[in-house]
Amino acid sequence: MNNQEYYDRLGVSKDASQDEIKKAYRKMSKKYHPDINKSPGAEEKYKEVQEAYDTLGDEQKRAAYDQYGPSGANGFNGGSGGFGGFDGTAGFGGFEDIFSSFFGGAAQRNPNAPRQGDDLQYRVQLKFEEAIFGTEKEVTYNREATCHTCGGSGSKPGTAPVSCHKCHGQGVVTVDMQTPLGTMRRQVTCDICHGTGQEIKNPCLTCHGTGHEKEKHTVSVKIPAGVESGQQVRLTGQGEAGFNGGPYGDLFVMITVQPSDKFERDGSTIYYTLNLSIVQAALGDVVDVPTVHGDVELSIPAGTQTGKTFRLRGKGAPKLRGGGQGDEHVTVKVITPTKLNNAQKEALRAFAEASDDSISKPKKKGFFDKVKDAFEGE
Ligand SMILES: [Zn+2]
Ligand SMILES: [Zn+2]
Repeated sequence: MNNQEYYDRLGVSKDASQDEIKKAYRKMSKKYHPDINKSPGAEEKYKEVQEAYDTLGDEQKRAAYDQYGPSGANGFNGGSGGFGGFDGTAGFGGFEDIFSSFFGGAAQRNPNAPRQGDDLQYRVQLKFEEAIFGTEKEVTYNREATCHTCGGSGSKPGTAPVSCHKCHGQGVVTVDMQTPLGTMRRQVTCDICHGTGQEIKNPCLTCHGTGHEKEKHTVSVKIPAGVESGQQVRLTGQGEAGFNGGPYGDLFVMITVQPSDKFERDGSTIYYTLNLSIVQAALGDVVDVPTVHGDVELSIPAGTQTGKTFRLRGKGAPKLRGGGQGDEHVTVKVITPTKLNNAQKEALRAFAEASDDSISKPKKKGFFDKVKDAFEGE
């Protein structure tokens, strides 16, 4: 994963502001623009700069890129069931705006065309078990909604926009411009109506002519069973209001899963460490082992060692795609007793005497004499 390269392409640091990124982009893209720079490789450079800005110039894509690299910004491939990721539909509108003033003439894009609203991102933290079994969460956030008073037109109800007084409804005006290629007569987007050709004379009192108003919005999110940190659920149409009657953007719910104090998890596999006494490990036992699905009885054979792993089939987390259920892996840890009373020590000595298979041979003296020396020797 490389989440530095796009910054390098624009020549900015990773903590650059959106403003600095935009400035750097203008500079770099002018430098390598194929209309200006005819040297070999310039066009390639120009495309790379373009690609970098496409991601870094968009707050959400930039955040995804910082966290997951280019694949994060370009799209986590979700699968079925309303489960999705970034797919690059978030509008990138900077390019034409910037270049229309230098090269291309104005109004290449129809400003009156319907445009989709912005996507939004919301972070949700799930408990360990919620991620395994799935859940439903209510999320509340502020968004730009279609103004309820004017229905998005921006005009006071009962009034209509009039033809723009500066461009006479054309959406563009003609100006002389100094460009890197010399003085040029150009048509540029009208700064009064921003290209729409229309002026709102009687703005709506609720939205002051924008057609949008802030709204506190609550939506219920179905989290599928088996999700993991870093995945997202996409809710179509729950983002911000569109423009000129365009559809709402989408809401991306980013998931973080809290750790468990009992279990570890990797995908659909759950890991559990089972502590056993030396007696249980040596003689064998039947014990209750916790799983996320409830306790399971497990037979421990005599002579079980630390590190021995048992597999509890189907006791893990569900697999997101393809279905089925993972396993729980139970790994044994034999605990050496630390606080022994006299009776217990006697029993262990008796055990040692009854055994002649010490694993590490004591050197000169018997092991217990040596310990005694260490504590009593002066
Ligand atoms: Zn309004
Ligand atoms: Zn105008």
